[in-house]
Amino acid sequence: MQKFAQRLSLLKASESMAMAQKVKELQKAMDIIDLTFGQPDFDTPEHIKQAAWKAICEGKNGYTASYGVVELRQAIAEFYQQYYRAQYAPLKEVLVCPGAKQGIMYLMQAFLNPGDEVILFEPCWLSYGDMILLNEGVPKFIPAKADLAPDLNRLESSISPKTKMILINNPVNPSGYVFSRKELEYIVALAVKHDLIIVSDEIYDRIVFMDFTSLSQFENVRDRAIVVGGFSKNYAMTGWRIGYILAAEPMIAKIGLIHQHTATCASSQSQYAALAALTGSQDSVSQMSRVYQSRRDLMGAGIGRTPFRLIKPEGTFYAMMDVSSLRAEPEKNSQELLTRYGIASVNGLSYGQSAGAYVRLSLTQGEARLQECLQRLSKN
Ligand code: PLP
Repeated sequence: MQKFAQRLSLLKASESMAMAQKVKELQKAMDIIDLTFGQPDFDTPEHIKQAAWKAICEGKNGYTASYGVVELRQAIAEFYQQYYRAQYAPLKEVLVCPGAKQGIMYLMQAFLNPGDEVILFEPCWLSYGDMILLNEGVPKFIPAKADLAPDLNRLESSISPKTKMILINNPVNPSGYVFSRKELEYIVALAVKHDLIIVSDEIYDRIVFMDFTSLSQFENVRDRAIVVGGFSKNYAMTGWRIGYILAAEPMIAKIGLIHQHTATCASSQSQYAALAALTGSQDSVSQMSRVYQSRRDLMGAGIGRTPFRLIKPEGTFYAMMDVSSLRAEPEKNSQELLTRYGIASVNGLSYGQSAGAYVRLSLTQGEARLQECLQRLSKN
């Protein structure tokens, strides 16, 4: 007899993963351009792989310090100092964890009491809502404005006595939206005014095609500002499972307890790989980012020949495409696109009700394939 906890009934399976599985099956019968998966199509750079191998051969195969290998924490702090002029004490304000996703889960476990509300801007990454629910919190989604921009005008009126946290993702998966410094200043000011935690998930911070401001740069609100980052997207290291949390010492001390009792530490070899990623040449990061930008430009330029419309992303490797012209139900959009054009995408609805007229395209296919995608979309 199965006696699952009640909270499990609140969770939905990830639609992007379900779609990826469907594509795998269909691909045997037809040529599908798969734009579903949130994973770089590049392999991890060679020097990073070599560093992991070296760590294995040198016997660095045991548990590490729970918060992470000291050199890696120092490298992360150094990186934030150089890149963002932000100061973090490596030993007390940096926690290395098995992926940013796990880090976000720790934050929900650390801060949410039953019924506490977390404010999110639609469209947003689908796992946030589930992680909040799993910790008995309540996600409060603010519908997007036209063209999927976050509606900051509705932020203050969305705050209630139950609100505990504002969670932003910058740049945004799935829209590629980048919050401006002014917008961040406004969000931070409201967090201070209403005594809220503010979390910024910056996992795509090096895949940005304009000026970027990190929450780490707001040093005067360190008592409430938490930055989550990682290596999965920037360095094409999704399978290595390394992320980190940056926050003031009292918060890291509490979050660290959850980490100690659940993961112990992140994988030792992956941490040495991440160390090489941060301390070695950054050429591959810039190169991959340039490729994503040129794919975005290619899609942006070609979409005018189709009945669809693309919201220009300023970061990430995703783009939201307005598919209203399909005249399908919001939950059927990606299925329609798949059957009519052989293009696999994820329903915008997965990222919020206000994104129902869109699908997310993951631009993780080469130029030739994206050209083919445009060609298919231009045919009726
Ligand atoms: N945050 C966002 C917005 C993401 O899109 C993803 C992965 O798709 C993650 C976090 C997960 O990152 P990680 O691989 O470090 O767990």
